[in-house]
Amino acid sequence: MSKLATDHGAINLSQGFPGFDCDPHLLDLVTKYMKAGFNQYAPMSGVPVLRERLAEKTKLCYGVEYDFEEEITIVSGATEALYAAVTAVVKNGDEVILLEPAYDSYAPAVLLSGGIPIYVPLRLPDFSVDWDLVKSSITERTKLIMVNTPHNPSGHVWNQNDLNTLAEIVQDQDVYVISDEVYEHIVFDGRKHLSLMTHPILRERTFVCGSFGKTFHVTGWKIGYCLAPKELTKEFRKIHQFLTFSTATPLQYALAEYLENSSRYLELPLFYQDKRDLFLEGLRQTSFKFSPAEGSFFQMVSFGHLTDESDRNLAVRLTKEIGVASIPVSVFYQGKTDHKLLRFCFAKTDRDLEMALEKLAKLS
Ligand code: PMP
Ligand code: GLN
Repeated sequence: MSKLATDHGAINLSQGFPGFDCDPHLLDLVTKYMKAGFNQYAPMSGVPVLRERLAEKTKLCYGVEYDFEEEITIVSGATEALYAAVTAVVKNGDEVILLEPAYDSYAPAVLLSGGIPIYVPLRLPDFSVDWDLVKSSITERTKLIMVNTPHNPSGHVWNQNDLNTLAEIVQDQDVYVISDEVYEHIVFDGRKHLSLMTHPILRERTFVCGSFGKTFHVTGWKIGYCLAPKELTKEFRKIHQFLTFSTATPLQYALAEYLENSSRYLELPLFYQDKRDLFLEGLRQTSFKFSPAEGSFFQMVSFGHLTDESDRNLAVRLTKEIGVASIPVSVFYQGKTDHKLLRFCFAKTDRDLEMALEKLAKLS
């Protein structure tokens, strides 16, 4: 969709990346460390000072301690964290529960490890988890469940009951969890992101995956992390060692220094809430139906009352004819299930959002 947007000069609200640059101070820090000669391989698990700062951030945000030596690993993007965690636990024939719609990298990682994805649909219209369905999908071959909160593409955010129920299930069934929390700092309306690590039972069997790219507006840097108990981290690092071995050194030092000021991530919810609200305000002038995203930088809209065409068709047509690119939500379903939903990314400049909304208002 990004390519189609470029080809047709459309405003690109499709792929999830910020349409603005990061804090110039962060760029200065990278330059500082590059010029100071921090340009060779970093330690396999990440530079210690970054892991220490991340342990501090984790304690501050969630009140949970992780040992930076043995439980925190810096990797080349959350995508690598997810892949390495899947590879660390999934063996031939293992079943892995995926909640659909699911981020596109989960199923390929499972399949490449010889695992069998078991797709459990999230409940419409709010994309909450149907825990009875999860329970009934578990067999003696289930090894892992992969979850994502705040959720891409729906923006749904988990509550304490979700954590408690998942904890009961995984304790009884002895399964691992991968928790994709790349939007941990993007939650709205006073909500708190409930990291899975805050539940003691989940803390013991979960790989928590995060992304500095999402939090600091630098998705092109591909730098993220995995927090997991010692025994799981040991296995995780065996994969990371031979997947990428280590992650860009000057970026790690720069981020370590940048993390010293907690306002840089604590202010993110309000920054994005303003954008979400601007986008919602404009959406009210369009014919789409929607419920406000609770988190993430995505807003879904429903269009089934406007046209019978497929979500793919509409996404392409909006890009070509109206000049606004989005993502058809069916691409997040294995069977390409079409619920007549589009996903818009509002991590864009206010100007781009306003122009896009003006165009979308013309669609009747
Ligand atoms: N998980 C989800 C839900 C995402 O939306 C993304 C980024 N688009 C990723 C993982 C990947 O993060 P990274 O860019 O750090 O690899
Ligand atoms: N995760 C981002 C999204 O959902 C983009 C990353 C990608 O294109 N692979 O749009």
